Amino acid sequence: MLKQIQNFCLDTLFPIECISCSEEGKFLCDHCFEDLELNRKQDCPKCHKETKLGNFCKECKNTSRLNGVIVSASYENDLLQKTIHTLKYKYIEELAKPLGNILISGLRMTLFKDKIDNDYIILPIPLHKKKFRERGFNQAELLGLEVAKYFKLACLNNVIIRIKNTKSQMSLNPIYRRKNIKGAFVCNKPEFIKDKKIILVDDVCTTSSTLEECAKAIYDYGPREIWGLVLARGK
Ligand SMILES: [Zn+2]
Ligand SMILES: [Zn+2]
Repeated sequence: MLKQIQNFCLDTLFPIECISCSEEGKFLCDHCFEDLELNRKQDCPKCHKETKLGNFCKECKNTSRLNGVIVSASYENDLLQKTIHTLKYKYIEELAKPLGNILISGLRMTLFKDKIDNDYIILPIPLHKKKFRERGFNQAELLGLEVAKYFKLACLNNVIIRIKNTKSQMSLNPIYRRKNIKGAFVCNKPEFIKDKKIILVDDVCTTSSTLEECAKAIYDYGPREIWGLVLARGK
């Protein structure tokens, strides 16, 4: 009851409105959501040649521990950028729902969806505990939970932990990104990795260095596949 009164007061004082068109009711209205363009095609994360599932092409395959990275939409889209930014830096947790739907719809548009079975588990890219305390939530975990719910998969948030409080990859010159993230992750629960197919979920990836480092932390524990799934590829 108290919670309902509190919500009523908050809604009256600060009505929920779409961050794009200001229509009341949702932080991202259905109309604006429809306007976000999703990727129908995937490509090799390294040379960007088109590939069926976002997998690495034959030539680039041996350069990575990842099988591939599925990118749901384009970072060129201003509204997508704004939505991600509002979730992460204005702490509007509710935006994880429409953003989660972008990951789900993005997956459904590609052939990857036909591959998904119960051997897949979702591992969100973890935040360092200091950053988690500041933000109060891990956006990758909220996104991962939405995807997991839809495809009826497990989403485990404590299998990989971030032991280094790194600078944001986006803020760095590409040549420093690999060094910045090196050794940032360890696997806390290797028993969950063996024979599983892993989907690492993050909001945005830049050079894939973060996904690569996470893959490195789990690779030796015997997963069958490791994929990245992100909303967009940032610059
Ligand atoms: Zn709108
Ligand atoms: Zn390639």
